[in-house]
Amino acid sequence: MNLNKTLSLIVISAMALAISSCGKQPPQSTIASGKTMGTFYRVQVVGGYKEGEQSLQSDCDKEFKKITDAISTFDKDAELALVDADFTTDPIVISPYLADIIKRCREQSDRIDYAMDISVGPLVNLWGFGPSKRNSVTPSDDEIKKAMALTGPDAYQIYEKDGAYYLQKKDPAVKLDLSTVGEGLGADAVAKTLDENKVQNYLASVAGASRSKGTNPKGDPWRIGIEDPTNPDHNVYQAVCPLGMAMSTAGSYRNYFKDAKTGRIFSHAIDPKTGRPVDHSTLSVTVIAKTAFETDALDTGLLVLGADRALKVANQDNLAIFTIEMKQGKPYARYSKAFSPYLKCADKINAKLEESL
Ligand code: FAD
Repeated sequence: MNLNKTLSLIVISAMALAISSCGKQPPQSTIASGKTMGTFYRVQVVGGYKEGEQSLQSDCDKEFKKITDAISTFDKDAELALVDADFTTDPIVISPYLADIIKRCREQSDRIDYAMDISVGPLVNLWGFGPSKRNSVTPSDDEIKKAMALTGPDAYQIYEKDGAYYLQKKDPAVKLDLSTVGEGLGADAVAKTLDENKVQNYLASVAGASRSKGTNPKGDPWRIGIEDPTNPDHNVYQAVCPLGMAMSTAGSYRNYFKDAKTGRIFSHAIDPKTGRPVDHSTLSVTVIAKTAFETDALDTGLLVLGADRALKVANQDNLAIFTIEMKQGKPYARYSKAFSPYLKCADKINAKLEESL
């Protein structure tokens, strides 16, 4: 699903390696890659790492397992899947780790008027993007209304009592969905492990969420590609240098379903206010911030808002975002003021980029 995202990243780092091969030999990299959370990851450490790729691979997989065991809805034994399956309005004991993730999601939701809302589980499942099978028939208005009644900021509460953490649902059928932050959590967890092992230069990506530090093997800033969502090969539309910050992109062009009867395409970004997948012309939103959790939590909600509203929120909140819309059949990109520094080091593939007013 996000293979191309990872590939476009490899394209840029491989280019870096190729160019440098005419000069001084770049330092060797230690690379780990594989599948996690139903998508792909790739971690590149410039130089050595402990006992080499094996130990990098196992350190990454250990972090991903901890996240999956806590927040997967695709693994029925994961903590969140068990909480979602618990048909009760009684308080449910949850781990401090899961409580912290839910609390941090609420903080990000508050910034964007709950356009990202982790209580969308019933809507995600209704539209076929959850662990249940993919349907291909658009749900009825009545089904959407029923699912919406189970979502929203008051659908659940979490609290601590005598050192234990509890989640309490408003309705037994409330289901949380943390898929929108899984990749960001993964990229942050790997970055933390590499920092603890004193790694100075690395690029860690879980699908479209990445963390980077220091420089690439050529000694230049890491460059990450934002894909052209309108191009079937998803070539790089714009190279960006996150300059040690986290970066992630949410797109409405990759994970979708097509209504078998009408042929209409529905993206997996669902607007909690309408109960329906977004159907505006914004195809992707890229966010740069300190942590990949923050970028991954915000990118889906900003995609739901659409470019105009997302750029307004971003310019008010000094948030670095880059949006690509479909305009007269072509990709049309804008970015917030705070995004400008990240474009400076990378040649502007698309000179007509304009800073949003
Ligand atoms: P993002 O934009 O980051 O997230 C979109 C996802 O967030 C949607 O798929 C939906 O689940 C949810 N969402 C949609 N709208 C909203 C909204 N308004 N507010 C909040 N959330 C919203 N997928 C598989 O196919 N197989 C697996 O085995 C599998 N295992 C997983 C395990 C874990 C721990 C996690 C976190 C996810 C797993 N997934 C799996 C799901 C898959 O990884 C996600 O679909 C993917 O992470 C979404 O990332 P994205 O960048 O494509 O979209």
